[in-house]
Amino acid sequence: MQHEYILPILYDLAVTIGGEISLKPLLTRTLQRLLYYTSFPAGFICLDAPHCEGSSDKIITRIDAAVGDYDLVNLVGEQVAFPQALLCGPAECKTEEAVLLAGLTSAHTHYKSYLRLPIEGCGVIVLLAPNLPETTLPLTYMLQPVMAHLAKALLLCRSNDAYTNGLIAERNLLAEAFDSSYSGVVLTDADANIIEINPAFTRITGYSIDEIRGKNPRLLASGRHDRNFYLELWREIVADGRWQGEIWNRCKNGEVYLEWLSINSVKDKTGRVVNYVGILSDISKQKNDEEKIHQLSFYDSLTDLPNRRYLLERLQQAMAIGARSKQYGAVLLVDLDNFKTLCDTKGHDIGDKLLIEVAQRLASCVNNEYLVARLGGDEFVIMLETLSLDASEAVAQSEVVAEKIHSALNQPYRLNEHGYHGTPSIGIVQFCGHQDSLDDVLKHADTAMYQAKKAGRNAIRFYDPAIQAAIEARADLETELRLALDNQQFCLHYQIQVNDLSRPVGAEALLRWAHPERGLISPAQFIPLCEETGLIAPIGLWVLQTACAQLRAWQDGVLTRELVLAVNVSAKQFRQADFVSRVRQVLQESAAKPSRLKLELTESMVLENVEDTISKMQELKNLGVGFAMDDFGTGYSSLQYLKRLPLDQIKIDQSFVRDIATDPNDAVIVHTIIAMTQTLGFNVIAEGVETEAQHRFLSQCGCHAFQGYLFSKPVPLGQFETLLHKPDAPR
Ligand code: C2E
Ligand code: MG
Ligand code: MG
Repeated sequence: MQHEYILPILYDLAVTIGGEISLKPLLTRTLQRLLYYTSFPAGFICLDAPHCEGSSDKIITRIDAAVGDYDLVNLVGEQVAFPQALLCGPAECKTEEAVLLAGLTSAHTHYKSYLRLPIEGCGVIVLLAPNLPETTLPLTYMLQPVMAHLAKALLLCRSNDAYTNGLIAERNLLAEAFDSSYSGVVLTDADANIIEINPAFTRITGYSIDEIRGKNPRLLASGRHDRNFYLELWREIVADGRWQGEIWNRCKNGEVYLEWLSINSVKDKTGRVVNYVGILSDISKQKNDEEKIHQLSFYDSLTDLPNRRYLLERLQQAMAIGARSKQYGAVLLVDLDNFKTLCDTKGHDIGDKLLIEVAQRLASCVNNEYLVARLGGDEFVIMLETLSLDASEAVAQSEVVAEKIHSALNQPYRLNEHGYHGTPSIGIVQFCGHQDSLDDVLKHADTAMYQAKKAGRNAIRFYDPAIQAAIEARADLETELRLALDNQQFCLHYQIQVNDLSRPVGAEALLRWAHPERGLISPAQFIPLCEETGLIAPIGLWVLQTACAQLRAWQDGVLTRELVLAVNVSAKQFRQADFVSRVRQVLQESAAKPSRLKLELTESMVLENVEDTISKMQELKNLGVGFAMDDFGTGYSSLQYLKRLPLDQIKIDQSFVRDIATDPNDAVIVHTIIAMTQTLGFNVIAEGVETEAQHRFLSQCGCHAFQGYLFSKPVPLGQFETLLHKPDAPR
């Protein structure tokens, strides 16, 4: 190396050092350049400035860079024990000191000389050679500025490395999070084209990055959401920069799953959207688990019916709703009779089978309309919500359901090839809002159920003693009614009907029940029950037969042969398919003149089924039978229908007649009815005429027939006939 080259050498070294920003290449490149210019074949750098003070002859320090010697290069990064004098002695390079080199742990014995270049306060560079290269230059001295420069570069590179390493660590962490995340992550560009996905995305959707790169995430759409759903989703992203919620998507294999998706837009400094990041997790399983947990905690595992807990919640709700709506509700507690005996004798398996069957029957009885729950054991509850606002109507409604359940559970069972006949005891309690506490309601249901057991099982009982009494009385009445026909407790009373001149023109036959203990019972008290129980058919037939027999008898009497007898027909009776033929048969058997028989129908029953009514009336009309429309004005008669009916007479209801003399409204109504019936060509009769004033008013309006206490109350046959014989009959 010549003197004139010093400056270019230093320049080159300075450029080399300044060109590096990272420690490792800085050290290696500097070493390479130094070896090149000094003609040393090998060298190394130790940066941890050795403490040269102490007396020990060995220093252990790390080799940070090495060039030119394979063994040394291999030691980079390792701690090596150096002879102290090699790193700390005077910088002169003397061949005699080769002994120091011999002390190097790696056997570089062929190095006989070295050059030490200290880097100000931050380490040392040692160049090695078998023989000291020839030079006249004071290398150590000459390279000092370079070393100073290197010292600064070291500091910069070190801090730069620290910064870069930090960034790398951060990036690695993010990459790690991205790759190992349990949630799927999808990154798109500003046009929502997929750029990157993570392994979890692939696991959830089945798509690999190659299959999905560049595509729009809408390829995952399941079709379960409408256009508006997506429009709203994008509207939110544009407005708030994010959206999250549940969404149904479709995997590559076609399966649809529920995911929790959150989408965030990523913006650059100017606020322009550059990316969208979607994070999604499959929550189908979670939903399933939730449902399972719900199923376990709210349903009975044997019957799949809601359990006690569920019932209590719903009952609470129902009471809250009832408190506002004022509607009644009811709880039916069903307990299976003799269930324990069945289990004890046939085994619990059979018991379970019965419970399952009962659960199914109960469910089909209420047909999803009401809640059926299993309380445990052999106890079931049916909760009836939103019944009538009227207490007794609500009782009737719950009774209907209870009867249905009672009869369904009374049907024979087949349990493992064995036939079984089971019966239930049913307790009913009504509730209305929070009048009673939840506990009370259930307690009362229990009490009612025990009443049913006490009554001999297989029975229905209401908690309310008054309701229970009314129901029992009705049940008694029904039993007695069934026997009344056979025991000949029925009779007919006759109420006279008169014309303008107060001459008798006919009578209305009115049914009476001569009860052995209670005396005469009015039809108003038992006709509705007869209709409900179907007893109206035989009783109605009896009335017809008795009335027709009477007509036949009257046909032979001078005073009676012209009389027309009106017979009341109830809706159920009239709707019987064979009603017409029954009337025909009765007429034939009794030989009564059909034209003397007048059937009274009511407005409501006529309107129930107009076509059927008309055809039946027409058939009977053809036989000669007449018709009167009873209780006219109390229903919703439509003139249009009225015109089509083959009626002979209209009976103004007594409720209008009662007040005609005092209430101008009723007076107008009656006036109108009479005018109208005349226009339609019917004749008209007023019932419930009690006073002369009413009689007069009706006559003035054009009414020519009357019935009422003014002329006579309904009376037994004997009395009625006496009435006819009076010279100024009937008064
Ligand atoms: P309805 O056909 O309107 O009969 C008239 C009712 O008014 C009778 O009551 C009669 O006693 C009563 N009445 C008659 N004149 C007066 C009066 O001046 N003042 C007052 N306050 N009442 C009067 P009843 O006998 O208790 O019968 C009640 C209802 O029972 C009848 O009303 C009819 O709908 C039904 N009914 C009676 N007998 C039979 C029957 O054999 N078959 C059917 N299906 N229903 C019957
Ligand atoms: Mg009548
Ligand atoms: Mg009437």
